[in-house]
Amino acid sequence: MEGELVDLQKQILELKKKRNALIVAHNYQLLEIQKVADFVGDSLQLAIKSAEAKGYDLVVFCGVKFMAEMAAVLSPDTPVYIPAPEALCPLASFVSSNKVRAKKKEHPGAPVVVYVNTTAETKSSCDIVCTSSTAVEIVESLGVDKVLFGPDKNLAEYVRRQSGIEIVDIEPQGHCYVHRMFDVAQIALLKEEYPDAVVLVHPECSPDVQDVADHVLSTGKMVKIVEESPAKTFIIATEVGLVEQLQDKHPDKIILPAYDGAICLQMKKNSLEKIAEVLEDLPEKNLVTVPAHMVDHIRETVERMYRVLGRPSIAGTAS
Ligand code: SF4
Repeated sequence: MEGELVDLQKQILELKKKRNALIVAHNYQLLEIQKVADFVGDSLQLAIKSAEAKGYDLVVFCGVKFMAEMAAVLSPDTPVYIPAPEALCPLASFVSSNKVRAKKKEHPGAPVVVYVNTTAETKSSCDIVCTSSTAVEIVESLGVDKVLFGPDKNLAEYVRRQSGIEIVDIEPQGHCYVHRMFDVAQIALLKEEYPDAVVLVHPECSPDVQDVADHVLSTGKMVKIVEESPAKTFIIATEVGLVEQLQDKHPDKIILPAYDGAICLQMKKNSLEKIAEVLEDLPEKNLVTVPAHMVDHIRETVERMYRVLGRPSIAGTAS
């Protein structure tokens, strides 16, 4: 089996070269997929990378569909393919543009900030997008007392606590089922065994789990902290794909999942076989498209986020 996988990985690397393709993979992808990717990162990093896909003929985006849609919006001249078009994020399905409009009627004048984990249709009805690593900064930048936010209620609570601004949940039940799997008791047990471990928690975890963290942060920032910290042991509360990546990169450190069953089944719908098939045949069903009438608005909401972060305009980076 292992030999077959290595062969398939080699085949993908050859096809990638032949097609002049850029493969990007989210931190939650299977490790065997991360190993054939040109770039692995969190949703913001992948969006930026896709917008910078200069010189490539196509992008293969290994993640869930909303992420690939962002890449397609930001990289209009380069076709974006997703190996598993059926990989949909359940968190994203909590909020639609109809719900956004209904909430706006209840709170006229309040700006709408949506987490990147939303469909293109939902993003087309917001004022600005954010990622888990930028949510607090984006909300604070608006200079208002009240913001409508969705779809994740735990990220909303994190922003509420950090900013002191009134955050109205567009959907009070919105959550990620994977990040809801963690609990304080499991982390306490691990801490008993590894008292020096640094606890890193994603802001999609519930507030009581956030409370026992040493740091609450995005997967991209978790990667950085493990790289840069002198600490030797980490307990990680996010999807296990990141834990596997970190343990692989840092064999001298102990990287423990806060719960080893925290697996996103949607992310795992991508596979080496599907990547090879995309590169071989470029099937129409795997090509990611966003309705033309939504594209300009979504680009503008991302441009607004970039401006807050001090990043160059998409127009200056897209191929
Ligand atoms: S881990 Fe959660 S938020 Fe991320 S893609 Fe899976 S269900 Fe969606």
